[in-house]
Amino acid sequence: MKVLVINCGSSSLKYQLIDSRSEEVLAAGLCERIGIDGRMTHTPSSGNTVVKNDPLPDHGAAIQAVLSALTDKAHGVISSLGEIGAVGHRLVHGGEKFAASVIINDEVIAEVEACNDLAPLHNPANLIGVRACRQIMPDVPMVGVFDTAFHQTMPPKAYLYGIPHQYYQEHKVRRYGFHGTSHNYVAKRVHHLAELDPDNSRVIVCHLGNGASVTAVKNGKSVDTSMGLTPLEGLIMGTRSGDLDPGVIEYIAKKEHLTLEEVLKVLNKESGVLGLSGVSSDFRDLTEAMEQGNEQAAVAVEAFCYRVAKHIGAYTAALNGVDAIVFTAGIGENAAHIRSMICDYLGFLGITIDEEKNAVRGKEAEISTPDSKVSVFVIPTNEELAIARETAALLGE
Ligand code: AMP
Repeated sequence: MKVLVINCGSSSLKYQLIDSRSEEVLAAGLCERIGIDGRMTHTPSSGNTVVKNDPLPDHGAAIQAVLSALTDKAHGVISSLGEIGAVGHRLVHGGEKFAASVIINDEVIAEVEACNDLAPLHNPANLIGVRACRQIMPDVPMVGVFDTAFHQTMPPKAYLYGIPHQYYQEHKVRRYGFHGTSHNYVAKRVHHLAELDPDNSRVIVCHLGNGASVTAVKNGKSVDTSMGLTPLEGLIMGTRSGDLDPGVIEYIAKKEHLTLEEVLKVLNKESGVLGLSGVSSDFRDLTEAMEQGNEQAAVAVEAFCYRVAKHIGAYTAALNGVDAIVFTAGIGENAAHIRSMICDYLGFLGITIDEEKNAVRGKEAEISTPDSKVSVFVIPTNEELAIARETAALLGE
């Protein structure tokens, strides 16, 4: 089955057409600046990237542009839309309602909409993509794959905040976690690569990208993760602060004469390694700045690594030991020195890294030495493939 995987944001739409049997990516692309002006890049598997600057006034127009590109005579990869067997949508927040992927129908849309308050930036944008696809391809089955679903196995002791229980009962204020599709995919890969028994294994997955989170995976199930009600909790990220004393919010608001919304914007968009360094949210820029002697960049990177290491320590306790640690996503897959700096804290677990093996970028590899007490891996994540697999599986393919 050919599955169109859609990841729809407020002004962008990423897509891949994947053959679910061969797992080949037939085409991939990105529509950007939707509702502003419009820019599209489309890359067929066997050809060069095509860039188009046609207007994309709304998401419906973007989906139309994607379907035209996929069936285009020159750079298309299918002869008619009838070849698309299903659409798999990335959906960010499924609240407590969705512990697994679902076939999308009117009821599911209403239930996802009910979670909009929990992810006001993401869920409405995801649903715009769902609605646009349903309108244009009413007979094609669609599946929703949630970022939060994998973490629904967390026990109450991990997902409850230490606040009055009525806030959980009445408003569902709790920790949900994100990046679940990635954590699940990578955990399954490490079971295979490390020859672990999936039903008797303790894995810590470090998804380190612009957004970053660490998950403790016991017997294939998420038992704790660093993000919370929103993706702001946990690690220091590209632009997000991660954990802080909630008292900081009121203090900054008073000192800087900011509203609550303005402080949260600072914590989401102007903090993390960007805010700490004053240089960039991108680890390539930070590394360059560090090499040129920029001390603030160095402290930002140290704080990032230290926070990751502390979470690994905490999750080793949560799992009562650890069999394998995995690094994935932009930083985790590419930045050897960051992996190295994090693992430097883990000598107490008997972890040693082979720096030659650690020089790997964007490929599956074991980077620990043979005598390391815990195996450490780099595993590139592949959320699109995971969504295509889930979609095909739910539709009985
Ligand atoms: P992601 O959100 O998973 O796409 O990761 C994006 C982040 O990965 C970027 O902001 C960079 O900080 C980081 N990154 C990507 N490539 C490299 C690289 N070669 N070296 C260091 N960091 C990288």
